[in-house]
Amino acid sequence: MNWPPETRDRALTACRSGKTNAVARALGVPKGTVAWWIHQDRAERGALPGARRSTCHRCDGDELDGAAYAYLLGLYLGDGHIVLPKKHRVHNLSIACTDTWPGLMDAAEAAMRAVFPHNSVCRVRARGCTSVKLYSKHLPCLFPQHGPGMKHTRVIALDGWQQQIVDAHPWPLIRGLIHSDGCRVTNWTTAALADGSTKRYEYPRYIFTNKSDDVRRIFSDTLDFVGVGWRTSRRGSDPYHVSVARRASVALMDEHIGAKY
Ligand SMILES: [Zn+2]
Repeated sequence: MNWPPETRDRALTACRSGKTNAVARALGVPKGTVAWWIHQDRAERGALPGARRSTCHRCDGDELDGAAYAYLLGLYLGDGHIVLPKKHRVHNLSIACTDTWPGLMDAAEAAMRAVFPHNSVCRVRARGCTSVKLYSKHLPCLFPQHGPGMKHTRVIALDGWQQQIVDAHPWPLIRGLIHSDGCRVTNWTTAALADGSTKRYEYPRYIFTNKSDDVRRIFSDTLDFVGVGWRTSRRGSDPYHVSVARRASVALMDEHIGAKY
């Protein structure tokens, strides 16, 4: 249930001076919800146990794990969201993963922790999916593509320093994009053989679907860079899909990406 922000604020204020359970009872809010608000509040203030001052590759020259960053960039460009909630001081990045792919949640969380080692990462459950969330005021520094509106309604271009990282780690970017907005599918057909039996032929391929022309171009440019053949396929009159179907290219993708799990 969505509680009004005032209730959250009253709960947090009361909890700082009193007992959580009593506060929850007094406000008629479940204990778990109050506990979650306290956790979120501490995460936003960088006050979780073990949390250190948030530092940044761009602002403070911190070393950056390039492969983890390229993967996280792929997840963000595909289906990630960066928001600054009203009245909060810190941006959050959330990557929604359906519950059928727990491996993706682990991979997303590991990449967040590698790229933002001093920041808080948590999982927020919703029906059928779990969002892996990271809080950091430096998210806009590392993801300058953040802006108002949907990604397909604005220009998405990589900065020079991002392109350098992608050139050094092209496969993690491709993996992140496929993990967020792509899939591996297998089409099949049968053919009659001379002896009267039938043989089944399978055609595996990878498909990436994104409404942003710019994001699809970043994907296909990176495929060109690693030597994977691709083509655009259409949905209605709009070319939203990039498909990799040539045998050698699919084999190369299988070697580096594989199926979602
Ligand atoms: Zn920064």
